[in-house]
Amino acid sequence: MAITLPPLPYADTALEPSISATTLQTHHGKHHKAYVDKTNAAVQDTDLVDASLEQIIAAAQDKGDKGLFNNAAQSWNHAFYWNSLAPSASAPSGDLAAAIDSAFGSLDALKEDLAAQGAAHFASGWVWLVAKAGALAVEQTHDAATFATDDAKPLLVIDLWEHAYYLDHKNLRPEYLKAVIEQHLNWDFAAENLAREGNWTYPA
Ligand code: MN
Repeated sequence: MAITLPPLPYADTALEPSISATTLQTHHGKHHKAYVDKTNAAVQDTDLVDASLEQIIAAAQDKGDKGLFNNAAQSWNHAFYWNSLAPSASAPSGDLAAAIDSAFGSLDALKEDLAAQGAAHFASGWVWLVAKAGALAVEQTHDAATFATDDAKPLLVIDLWEHAYYLDHKNLRPEYLKAVIEQHLNWDFAAENLAREGNWTYPA
């Protein structure tokens, strides 16, 4: 049972002009697909051939297999990222809104934290909204590092790799972050993640 490349949850034009169809086609159809293909190639003929992506990530971490970890974790992170975005932003409500107010003071303060940490992050990585130890927090991870198998529960993520924004915003990562944070964060997905028992799992 191979790891699949889930389709984008919206049309490739749905995030324009913040993220162009060209960026989404390459980012999903080339980058994400390559991570999935390399993960499948690496586990072929091993005892991980029928494992879930989360099991593969955990096994790669345990074994210190950096190559497998990078491809498996990037497969997971990208699927989580597609779901973290939406054609238009909803508004947090209920338990999520209360948790945001409790941790950050306001939704605007959370957005500022995401934008600031995303802009300040050095080189490639991800900026996350996570729930850990009963409170929300903004966290950064480098390269392929992930919250997929962490005790902290990821709610949303934004890709900070240059391939996520360079075609549309050149070197202006803060411009990409502002557009995504103001217009395209999927707060309904964040609320579902906050409410679920464990962490989000990659589609089989
Ligand atoms: Mn990416």
